[in-house]
Amino acid sequence: MAPQAGTLVLEEVSKTFPQRDGGGEVRAVDRVSLSIGVGEFVTLLGPSGCGKTTTLRLISGFEFPSSGRILLDGKDISNRPPNKRDMAMVFQSYALFPHMTVANNVAYGLRVRHVGQQELKQRVAHVLDLMGLAGLAERRPHEMSGGQQQRVALARSLVVEPRVLLFDEPLSNLDAKLRVQMRSEIRNIQRRLNITSVYVTHDQVEAMALSDRIVVMNDGHIEQMGTPEEIYRRPVSRFVADFIGRANFVEGTIHDVSGERATVSLLGQTVTVSAGFQPHPGDTVTVVLRPESLVLRSDPGLEQVRVEQMMYLGSSVEYLLARGDQRLIAVDTDPRSDRLFREGDLAGLTFEPETVHILPARA
Ligand code: ADP
Ligand code: MG
Repeated sequence: MAPQAGTLVLEEVSKTFPQRDGGGEVRAVDRVSLSIGVGEFVTLLGPSGCGKTTTLRLISGFEFPSSGRILLDGKDISNRPPNKRDMAMVFQSYALFPHMTVANNVAYGLRVRHVGQQELKQRVAHVLDLMGLAGLAERRPHEMSGGQQQRVALARSLVVEPRVLLFDEPLSNLDAKLRVQMRSEIRNIQRRLNITSVYVTHDQVEAMALSDRIVVMNDGHIEQMGTPEEIYRRPVSRFVADFIGRANFVEGTIHDVSGERATVSLLGQTVTVSAGFQPHPGDTVTVVLRPESLVLRSDPGLEQVRVEQMMYLGSSVEYLLARGDQRLIAVDTDPRSDRLFREGDLAGLTFEPETVHILPARA
């Protein structure tokens, strides 16, 4: 049941709502353009209110764009109702029918589509098997755990063999351990079936773990789009750097520029980096340093910082560092007892040069 279709394109899609408390308008989605290939798993990620759910509702047909177009396999579906889009949605609330058995919940979409009894039975059995639910077919939702209910919800979406699967924060109601387990199940199933998927979450770790590509949204617009690694290593703005993982920001000064490469000095050292924008000699830039690329050494030749806090976490050690008025976070992912720093210690601060990433001072 691997669908060979499912290319989804959004062209300059915007959605405005009348403001809930009287006059004015809210632009919930602001000229969003993206192109998602067959079988690709794309996550819309961003803080609450940035427009993720509205974008998903536009894709599913529960809302219609104020402007722009949505294309599925080349056809304009912008104004089609949800049941004419060949998509299925998995919700946070599961949205199962409480009075129906698991088998009937899963069969529902097929009955609505008037699929014959024999084919229906086969397809339901196949999907229940796929989701590890075969033994629970006659249970009702209240007789199952949250994780099992979410699996039924996913089975119900898969059984109709949609061209696109949509997820709106489906794991938010599960406890941390189950969330991690379901995350890997979703990834597994989606890979096996090769279904184009659009997933909404505000959880960056979930987004990184699941996605081929992440779309970071901010205030209705796309701030950045890329693979988890691109977004983490080469964020285009402070917003993205801050939202995806943790980031330290320090000031740097540009010395030489040669094509894509720029020489920048920071923390008393000089390194050459590739810039994602056009810097000029003399510019002040913002340098993004991830906590795990900051390194502490007992070396008086390096810039000295004070260890304000040290947290031993077993597989890593986290330091909160004072550099004048500034606070920096450093993570040692290979902590050995002979080189730990203690609270109150002065330490020399350096960094791994290849991890240095620069942004325009005001990005
Ligand atoms: P997210 O899912 O990222 O939290 P939403 O897409 O739900 O964000 O909302 C984006 C913005 O649009 C918010 O400011 C929200 O208040 C507003 N909004 C969403 N739906 C409506 C609506 N039906 N009427 C008015 N404003 C809305
Ligand atoms: Mg939402």
